[in-house]
Amino acid sequence: MPYPGETASKVAHVDVVSNPDVQAFLAGCEYLTPPSEEEGKSIGGLFKSVPTAANASLPAYVIAVDGSLHETSLDDRFPSTKVGYVKVSAVLIDMQQMSELRVDNGRFVDPFRVAELDRTSTGLACCLPSANVRRRGYSSVRDSFRAALDDYLLGTTTRFVPSSHKSSLRTTLFHLASRRPDAIRNDPDRLTLHRCPSCRERNIEVADVPELQHCPHCSQPVYPSDVLRIWEEVEDYQSNLMALNRVMMLLEHMLPIHYIRYLAESSLRSLGRLCFFVDGPLAVFGTAAWIHGAIMRYLYEINTRLARVGLAPVLLIGLQKTGQVVDHLALIDRFVECNRVSLVTDEYRYRYILAGRDPAGNGFGFETYYGQDFLLKTSTGRSFVFSIQHPFASKGPQAEFNAARQNPSSFTELGRAVRLIEHFESDLYENAVVPIALAHRHAAISLRPGSQVLDLLARRSLSDSSGYRDAV
Ligand SMILES: [Zn+2]
Repeated sequence: MPYPGETASKVAHVDVVSNPDVQAFLAGCEYLTPPSEEEGKSIGGLFKSVPTAANASLPAYVIAVDGSLHETSLDDRFPSTKVGYVKVSAVLIDMQQMSELRVDNGRFVDPFRVAELDRTSTGLACCLPSANVRRRGYSSVRDSFRAALDDYLLGTTTRFVPSSHKSSLRTTLFHLASRRPDAIRNDPDRLTLHRCPSCRERNIEVADVPELQHCPHCSQPVYPSDVLRIWEEVEDYQSNLMALNRVMMLLEHMLPIHYIRYLAESSLRSLGRLCFFVDGPLAVFGTAAWIHGAIMRYLYEINTRLARVGLAPVLLIGLQKTGQVVDHLALIDRFVECNRVSLVTDEYRYRYILAGRDPAGNGFGFETYYGQDFLLKTSTGRSFVFSIQHPFASKGPQAEFNAARQNPSSFTELGRAVRLIEHFESDLYENAVVPIALAHRHAAISLRPGSQVLDLLARRSLSDSSGYRDAV
């Protein structure tokens, strides 16, 4: 996306596009183009009024998650020696007054602070070897990367209880792996690697223990996080931006489940007051894409438990600030009335957004998406692309799943999601980074799994019977 003031590159862009060779090439291509007047009007007619939220109140808390990554040369003299730095920040927004947050004896809670957040603020940071960097004792970047990623997921910074490895993000990965449809057994204490990264033997079982484990065939180390298969994309002598990006996106999607797991174990009630914002569509791509189905199932199980005790479901909203769907919405904006929303069906997507692309046989995003995209024009005329989690346990039977996820009435939380987006509307609109946007004008607390904030959240809900604040 171009930024204001990027005039220099714009000139170059015009030169390239007006070049006759490029014009001739483009004549044989299909790509996103503005709709005709007639087409625009029929698209605008597909939008429906925003449904009235069944539960008209907003969640008491919002957690917003966002990742960033850097790959940098260690020294200008060795530009091809690189280290990667992935960071995922989370902020907790208290929708009630900050001042109401007190510990049991009435003191203000410490270490709260109104976060002055930017991308350098504290978050979950992970250093990974990239090109030409090896950990001592390891023979390749790939093996170093595997060890560093596993250390990080298991490490104390990701734990809710520093002394318990079962409270780590890696254990959350075990919980997710036990919910994959092809799991050999549904046991969160063990998981199966599809193959050993060293000898390639299939189906290697590893346990959720802190000790280093070894392949029974070749005796080389195997790590539980090998199940993410990110190592398959790690190269020794070139930039590993792709793998770093995979790690970042995975963490962005695993972190909400990590918080949910902790709160479900410590205080289910607090979950009925919570909503998550994540960056981008609710989807996981690449070798770890299998995790999207496990996340969907995990959310379904938790929300089933919440419903059983009369609480509202946990809501995950993916907010998209860039990409084809966002570009498309900008093109049709003038045809859409205010206070209208539209579910992006596959038919719509392949007709207007991915024009010329062959529809996927299983339905769009079958291997990657755990949420459905929506287009929104708010009552004040701002446009948003967002997604809400698919409220289903599994994607089978396929035809039924595809029909249900394209039926707006499956998304009972749609009205509440729109209401929440409208609540934060101006901040979200101006700032591309959601946690920063929310922190600007709201009481925000920088979150780490080990922080006392979540404990407070859990404890607070015990003494508070109303899950939601009143309508604002
Ligand atoms: Zn092996």
